[in-house]
Amino acid sequence: MSERTYKVYAIENGTVIDHIPTPLALKVIRILGLGGEGIMTIGIGFRSKTHAGGKDVVKVENRVLSPEETDMVALIAPDATINIIKDGSVLEKRKISLPSEVRKVMSCPNPNCATNQLGVQGHFILEDRNTVTYRCRYCERSTSVNPDNLVHA
Ligand SMILES: [Zn+2]
Repeated sequence: MSERTYKVYAIENGTVIDHIPTPLALKVIRILGLGGEGIMTIGIGFRSKTHAGGKDVVKVENRVLSPEETDMVALIAPDATINIIKDGSVLEKRKISLPSEVRKVMSCPNPNCATNQLGVQGHFILEDRNTVTYRCRYCERSTSVNPDNLVHA
């Protein structure tokens, strides 16, 4: 976390998601289902030593995201870092890892799957961490996740 990033707009309490590759900040917000619940600050295209194309930062005020929520970020930004801020200080630096199960934001690529035919909610089980591949619990079809094939994102 660079000093400069914080200077833009520091928050007193809440969650900072840093090191999101540009331009995925808005997708991260959609994956988390955030919006309409208070102040959010979005920074896009900061210079970054680790991300040649720049990095985005999302700050969610007055809301501490759960580990289950922040792990969802790993679906598209596995190197993102999570800082929980309390009274202006970093209370927790959290690493994220791919969720073992995903019930939202993914859709099954199999058009005949019950999730597509009957509107059953999707349920995907992590199959391969390296390739970010999940398997549909209903039809067993595998799908590798990328920022472009997540629904509602
Ligand atoms: Zn399926």
